[in-house]
Amino acid sequence: MKVDGFVKSGSVSRNGHNNIPQVSNNLNIDLIGDNHIGTAIDTPMRPDAFEKSDEEKMVIIEDRFRDIMETLGLDLTDDSLSGTPQRVAKMYVQEIFNGLNPENKPKISVFENKFNYGEMLVERNINLNSTCEHHFLPIVGKAHVAYIANGQVIGLSKINRIVDYYARRPQVQERLTVQIASELKKILKTEDVAVVIDAKHMCVSSRGIEDESSSTVTAEYGGVFNSKERRDEFLRYVSLGK
Ligand SMILES: [Zn+2]
Repeated sequence: MKVDGFVKSGSVSRNGHNNIPQVSNNLNIDLIGDNHIGTAIDTPMRPDAFEKSDEEKMVIIEDRFRDIMETLGLDLTDDSLSGTPQRVAKMYVQEIFNGLNPENKPKISVFENKFNYGEMLVERNINLNSTCEHHFLPIVGKAHVAYIANGQVIGLSKINRIVDYYARRPQVQERLTVQIASELKKILKTEDVAVVIDAKHMCVSSRGIEDESSSTVTAEYGGVFNSKERRDEFLRYVSLGK
């Protein structure tokens, strides 16, 4: 197989002559990953995504993760490592990726806006922990959300729950931002929703370009937030007390 400077990652293929697994020379894989290009608003899911139970998924992932660790040369009989495949499987299915399953979507009830509060409501500095879908490394940051009620309001903590639900998936930050905004628009029956996310990507700080200080800001503005005044007002609230 021709090997050039671009061969860093890719799927494994078999070389016809000696049957040794080779890393394929797929430049596109690195291009998409390092530029963090997302391809769709909806999380790309297989049609059979939920045919297996969580328990079945954990058994398979544990098995495959053990293979990864052993391939790296780790000794799984060591006490410190022996439980890792099981811990990773549980963490993937029940914790950091449990937002893939619509059954785990938070149940949100809306209330009538009794106070007729017609101004902007801002929930800022919402903790955000997600995972980059290109490298399976953490995305850590803050989300700031605002809406103007159109007759209906939701409990404040519910905004945090929605952020958390969509964050618990392999993600690209742009898609996460849009998914949170569109869910809130649906629940609150208004276009007047704004979402800003400011986050650090471990795949940028600890590999690739190794930039420790940069963070990525993404924003989605709907309805009145497309006006400069409303947008500036929102951003002023978000920066209060910084
Ligand atoms: Zn990444």
